[in-house]
Amino acid sequence: MSEYTYEKDASGIVTITFDSQGKSANTMTRAWFEGMKELMAKLSAEEGLTGVVIASAKKTFFAGGDLEEMLHGSMDPEDIFAYVEEMKAPLRQLEKLPVPVVAAINGAALGGGFEICLACNHRVLLNSPKAVVGLPEATLGLLPGAGGVVRLTAKLGLEAALPLLAEGKQLRQEKALKAGLVEELVDTPEELIPAAKAWIKANPEAAAQPWDQKGFRYPGGNAESANVRMVAAMAPTMLYNKTRGLMPAPEKVMDIAVNSMRMGFDSALRNESRGFAALLRSTEARAAITTFFFGMQAIKSGKVRPQGDAWKAGSSAILGAGMMGSGIAWAHASRGLPTALKDMSLENAEKGKGYSVKLADKAIKRGRMDEAKKDALLSCITPTDSDETFAGTDIIIEAVFEDISLKEKVIPETYKQLSDTGIYGSNTSTLPISILAESCPDPTRFIGLHFFSPVDKMKIVEIIVGDKTSEETLRKAYDYVQQIGYLPIVVNDKRGFFTSRVFGTYLDEGLALMRDGMSPVAIERAAWKIGMPVGPLAVHDEVSMVLTKKIHETHIALDARLGVENGFPADDSSNVKVGQSMVNMGRGGRHYGGGFYEYAEDGTKKLWDGLSQFKERDLNVSMQDAEDRMMYRQAIETLRCLDEGVLRTEVEANIGSIFAIGFPAHTGGALQFIHGVGLDAFKKRADELAAAYGPRFEVTESALNKLRSEK
Ligand code: NAD
Repeated sequence: MSEYTYEKDASGIVTITFDSQGKSANTMTRAWFEGMKELMAKLSAEEGLTGVVIASAKKTFFAGGDLEEMLHGSMDPEDIFAYVEEMKAPLRQLEKLPVPVVAAINGAALGGGFEICLACNHRVLLNSPKAVVGLPEATLGLLPGAGGVVRLTAKLGLEAALPLLAEGKQLRQEKALKAGLVEELVDTPEELIPAAKAWIKANPEAAAQPWDQKGFRYPGGNAESANVRMVAAMAPTMLYNKTRGLMPAPEKVMDIAVNSMRMGFDSALRNESRGFAALLRSTEARAAITTFFFGMQAIKSGKVRPQGDAWKAGSSAILGAGMMGSGIAWAHASRGLPTALKDMSLENAEKGKGYSVKLADKAIKRGRMDEAKKDALLSCITPTDSDETFAGTDIIIEAVFEDISLKEKVIPETYKQLSDTGIYGSNTSTLPISILAESCPDPTRFIGLHFFSPVDKMKIVEIIVGDKTSEETLRKAYDYVQQIGYLPIVVNDKRGFFTSRVFGTYLDEGLALMRDGMSPVAIERAAWKIGMPVGPLAVHDEVSMVLTKKIHETHIALDARLGVENGFPADDSSNVKVGQSMVNMGRGGRHYGGGFYEYAEDGTKKLWDGLSQFKERDLNVSMQDAEDRMMYRQAIETLRCLDEGVLRTEVEANIGSIFAIGFPAHTGGALQFIHGVGLDAFKKRADELAAAYGPRFEVTESALNKLRSEK
């Protein structure tokens, strides 16, 4: 089966149209590579050849390397090296053809796909938001191994190429043109091939790449120039500030790029293959591919969604125009979903809509929105103080105060307005969904839809399935979350669900370290070193200890009502003990004028000097232990959630932990982190921590076995 079509016109230009058989996108598989070998032989023997155009029969231009093949292939570095060398060889042959070669890019050309384009002499890009180009390999823990690092550095110079390579930037339209990734834009797909051919006819001599010509100089200077030496000297420090030394891929990319300038082109390509082989074997690459590629694909394609017809909400209502309600209204309006935004007074509801006005104005200022789009967006939000405004709506999302009796009053009152096929969601962050569902006339249509703050930036929703929630409601909730462009992760109902529960362990461990005698500065530093976005003490201040105290009291009252003892958070936890003393001392958090930090008028903050009172013992905790304690607490709690059936899949645990909790992304998520350490090594270290610091670090074999059986 052929991977491409081959067509020669009267002027001697051959158009190669890639069309990987049986796949929706062109990928660099073995079959493609075999096809390329045959193709290069055919082109080399072609008589009267005047040029070559590379095009695609798919919606995207070319998707790049086959990650499935890479993840499951041999891990022997020599085998990987040989594989990459084989894959990149036809591209070298392509750029050495004695005629000009032009890429006609009709859609996304990323990774390997764009590396093919770089081996061409000229690139014509369709002027469409879908036609995106770039080398995002570093975001998957890899480097562009088909000549991308070496060619982009030679094409743009080190200074311009480094950020594109190390950050894996993807560009489209004018930005791609301006950055020099492509040379020409056309407005319609029909113009692509004619434009490519026109360039060939106008530039019949442009067959050799600049780097294959005598006297080639890198744009911006060769390796020994002062400018390049300065970039090479400063880049690692700048990178370290961003990656905290946790991501080997951008470092390797930088190293290969700098060194490629000091060697011959073919040696540089071989050096790049060596670098690729080293990275593919790394824990970080495997984690990134597993979670960010396959995991994301599983969630987006609905692998974890119950089977059934697709559902689309045509209208919606949000109760409570506070911080969360107004953020959710923005999310709805951004995707054109009409929304009634209800609060106790029209004035409050208008204020909630005002939040979207502010976000829209900010987007306009940044050139990301125009007035017409703003008007269309705002017209989707109807502020109201009356239930009748949303009679017959498809989805109601309750986001009133976190007060169980208020919610139990509001839910049955507003349920009446739901359409016959509609669903009812609650945005509660900790109240049990199954309990709230009892106040809903039809609990099968009731579900948790837990958004995160700030809603416009945190594009993930934890869907909580109550005891009586139907599969149909779950499916509709899943579709609704995707309809508004958010990532759905599905969990079962238990105190704290998944995200609040695991996030709580991070906050708790920060305070436990303080009680064990570690200095607050060192605690925040340890959190930075492991890659947490914000240190635990700073997060406490943002969340506010007042809120944590309220949640604790709510759950005590709930326990009393139900005659159970769940405790959330537990009475003897550091979150409760230290948190409550802070509130009692009038240090409830940033919103209350200060907490673990003191906040100055000029926006700066410093740790409060009264924190030494929380030191209960001096365990002389090492930095390594502190780092592990914060990582392991979260990973162990996630594992417990899986073991207890709160979490349904590993994929959701990993994606949820990164995007909702801020678990360090380089690990691939909280459960992938355990796989990366190795299950036995993880258990051994957890046992050590349990022996030194307490049973909260205990890991049961049954939980680990769950992880073993899921793989
Ligand atoms: P908020 O205090 O900012 O807003 C609550 C709003 O509800 C207020 O505007 C209030 O006037 C309104 N309200 C009260 N009673 C009402 C009624 N009967 N009808 C209509 N409106 C009414 O609170 P928030 O931070 O937006 O939280 C709302 C919900 O979202 C809570 O359940 C909370 O636990 C949950 N949540 C909060 C966060 C967060 O970070 N703040 C994150 C996830 C979930």
